[in-house]
Amino acid sequence: MARPLIADIDLNALRHNYRLARDLAPHSQSVAVLKADAYGHGAVACAKALADLAPAFAVACLEEAEALRAAGIEVPIVLLEGVFEAAELERVEALGLWVAVHSEWQVEALLAFSPRQPITAWLKVDSGMHRLGFAPAQVAAVWARLQAAPERVTDLHLMSHFATADALDADYFRRQLDVVQQLAETLEAPTCLANSPATLAWPEAHGAWNRPGVMLYGSDPLEGANDASRTLAPVMTLRSEIIAVREIAAGEPVGYGGRFRAPRPSRIGVVACGYGDGYDRHAVDGTPLLVDGQRAGLAGKVSMDMLTVDITDLPSADIGSEVVLWGQAANGEVLSVDEVARYCDTISYTLLTGVLPRAPRRYHGG
Ligand SMILES: *Cc1c(COP(=O)(O)O)cnc(C)c1O
Repeated sequence: MARPLIADIDLNALRHNYRLARDLAPHSQSVAVLKADAYGHGAVACAKALADLAPAFAVACLEEAEALRAAGIEVPIVLLEGVFEAAELERVEALGLWVAVHSEWQVEALLAFSPRQPITAWLKVDSGMHRLGFAPAQVAAVWARLQAAPERVTDLHLMSHFATADALDADYFRRQLDVVQQLAETLEAPTCLANSPATLAWPEAHGAWNRPGVMLYGSDPLEGANDASRTLAPVMTLRSEIIAVREIAAGEPVGYGGRFRAPRPSRIGVVACGYGDGYDRHAVDGTPLLVDGQRAGLAGKVSMDMLTVDITDLPSADIGSEVVLWGQAANGEVLSVDEVARYCDTISYTLLTGVLPRAPRRYHGG
């Protein structure tokens, strides 16, 4: 039998989550963010599953957009960081892409380029993330320069990104929102501001467009879940099986370094999944897994190809038992990737984007 590790991707759940993002923002259009291979879920399959729902997609770079176009995806695609060099504008035009504009050199490049059709451009404001974008005091002048070139750029929007929309403490979020909303009012500019947490929790940040990402994949980005986020459905189930069982005496160590020491006579299940598949090696003892749909704890350091789980309390678990690393078990039980991430001192984004090609994707629904 083949190695049992599979990343099952539920495209119906993806569509459900997209509809939630859309319905939470009835006055906005929602770009589905598909960067980083759709957060590890497979950008082409996800784009096809959303093609009749989403009016636009967003990716991080030209290469990601090229892959979608090569697969026959025809809706507008936004480059969230714009072009990385002026020469990319040729392909932007040929592929009908939209660009973020965050830097002076990108403005110069756009204004020096003569497209047959003007290019849709979203001007990025640094409202407080301090990563990409123009400082608020520069925005009006850049906006005016772009507006004065309607044969080169069109459909201008103000775009900005929140640093803390996921946090319960709203102070910094409100400061950023104030900055960009004042600019939008002065310039009479449509906006695109909301990421997943702002889509879920901050309707006042919804603009002409929103940019939900991780919520589409069923992860709840909010520090404190709300009624909407609780209805998100997991899209990826990373599943494998127990391939061996050890019976060990109390006091015996398990795995590299002997980090786990059996506190009692124990049954240890060996699971075909390791950090060589993208499972996080930082997972601590007790990190939850679902064995035949029941919670059990990681026991010992994660190896490259395997990990070990304490199944002492699950006497029916044995070789061939289903193990869900995150997602939904056959019995319907759900283990959220967000919970697993907390045990790995990380966020769902790194776990989902970290699943390596060795874990084959298997698609359902859509
Ligand atoms: C990744 C990204 C998003 C989506 O963020 P989520 O937290 O996944 O919803 C939105 N906007 C920009 C600019 C991004 O880079």
